[in-house]
Amino acid sequence: MLGNMQSQGLLISDILEFAAQAHPDANIVSRSVEGGIHRYTYADALARSKQLANALERLGIKSGDRIATIAWNTYRHFEIYYAVSGMGAITHTINPRLFPEQLSYIIQHAEDQYLFVDLTFVPLVEKLADSLAGVKGIVVMTDEAHMPESSLENLLCYETLASNESPEYQWPCLDDNTAAALCYTSGTTGNPKGVLYSHRSTIIHAFAASQKDALDISEGSRVLPVVPMFHVCAWGVPYSAPMTGATIVFPGAGMDGASLTELIQSEQVDLLLGVPTVWLGLLNHLDEVGEKLDSVERVVIGGSAAPVSMIEAFDKKHDAMVVHAWGMTEMSPLGTVCAPGRYLRSLPDKERYALQTKQGRAVFGIQIKIVDEDNQELPHDGQAFGRLLVKGPWVVERYYLSEESALDDQGWFDTGDVATIDERGYMQIVDRKKDVIKSGGEWISSIELENVAVGYETVQEACVIAARHEKWDERPLLLVVPVSGKSLDKQDLLAHIGKYVASWWVPDDVVLVESLPHTATGKLLKKDLRETYQDYFLSSAKAM
Ligand code: AMP
Repeated sequence: MLGNMQSQGLLISDILEFAAQAHPDANIVSRSVEGGIHRYTYADALARSKQLANALERLGIKSGDRIATIAWNTYRHFEIYYAVSGMGAITHTINPRLFPEQLSYIIQHAEDQYLFVDLTFVPLVEKLADSLAGVKGIVVMTDEAHMPESSLENLLCYETLASNESPEYQWPCLDDNTAAALCYTSGTTGNPKGVLYSHRSTIIHAFAASQKDALDISEGSRVLPVVPMFHVCAWGVPYSAPMTGATIVFPGAGMDGASLTELIQSEQVDLLLGVPTVWLGLLNHLDEVGEKLDSVERVVIGGSAAPVSMIEAFDKKHDAMVVHAWGMTEMSPLGTVCAPGRYLRSLPDKERYALQTKQGRAVFGIQIKIVDEDNQELPHDGQAFGRLLVKGPWVVERYYLSEESALDDQGWFDTGDVATIDERGYMQIVDRKKDVIKSGGEWISSIELENVAVGYETVQEACVIAARHEKWDERPLLLVVPVSGKSLDKQDLLAHIGKYVASWWVPDDVVLVESLPHTATGKLLKKDLRETYQDYFLSSAKAM
């Protein structure tokens, strides 16, 4: 027997319609790309999204067409999210930090019809001109006064395009499994793969993400997503904030410590979201100028592991609670959150910091398990580690245009991460599967070693990779970028690491480097380093 309730679809356009009516006091504040602060309400954003939807219809955009963006977090990007998905087309957010060949590949693979770009990225798009044959026009996200000189053909101005249109528009009543947004993974090998989110998956994810035991976004929150809208839809904040009536503060292109500090203080932001690298920049800046953040209550850190030194610095210096979260493009992205619940808050500082380095418990909707090489489920004892598999209504089923399912025959998606799960259900990422160091048949976590190394005062950034070893197969090699102008004693650093990990985990050597390579989403790019240093111990053994 079926239930008797209405089967109304879960549609992205309904979020903004709702926010405009129910949350007149909430705002969208943006640092604009042209300079200055832009401020308006959800009702204003709704009217402008409808104008843009009318403009897109006039350009001939139909349901299912892909509209790409290469843009910062701003109100115009937000309007595109709603106009495009709301009308039944697909918002394809592109990460400008991808390599030019990858950018060309994904624009062609997605068959984008129009490209919306911020002023900053016009030169980047000019370099891609040869691969834009299928793109009908490029819309620069600015007004007439700021339109750039450009060699690009079919250049349109965002404000001119949208401002003459009517703010009346009837959103279509779509099936909620209709595709809404497309985001390519920034994989370190092979071509990027597209993950195609639906209206349904986006809305359920936004419900789950805003819960108290997840990101805890609600009416009155003042949220600053530093995580880009081109990276997994800024972790869903552009949906969960209007859904709950939170004010969003968009940083535009200002991701450096000084710009962030200024925006956080002037807008009295209480919730920050972003990757560890950004927070390192912010914390360093605050130390330099001797400023304290007084409005910030929580800092959500994901994308890479949050080191204990960062968790402690936010707590002790800024009275802000780090909320460690884990997820991936394939998961929209939220999987687990280490939310500051009753148990976590009850712990003495040192134990609490240790727990906060774990990525937390699954949010309702996501199932997680760890398995060994034979696919046998491993115990939740916080010790056993294996491949992390996930299931859930906002997890990918297959990649865009792929014929094959991305799941195993039981419907689980293999995240490529290796993790432990403890008795209380807290998951901890040990490593990416390909980055784990296998020393004499035992596994060593490169992430844990990196986190301990960055706690050493003259280490700016650390990266641990496996290098081949005659006796042990592989041994850890530590690459370090020292804090500029400071000296670093290798033996002292290794002794520091030895205080926190088993002695056989301590890296066999330290190499000082000027910088480390990163992926487009700011993660350490270890592939090339592994190739460069794979014989490091073999050749030093021969040399001895
Ligand atoms: P992406 O799809 O680019 O967002 O990358 C997802 C991957 O980033 C995950 O599979 C993890 O390897 C890594 N990741 C995300 N969040 C965390 C975290 N909190 N700690 C450690 N690794 C993380």
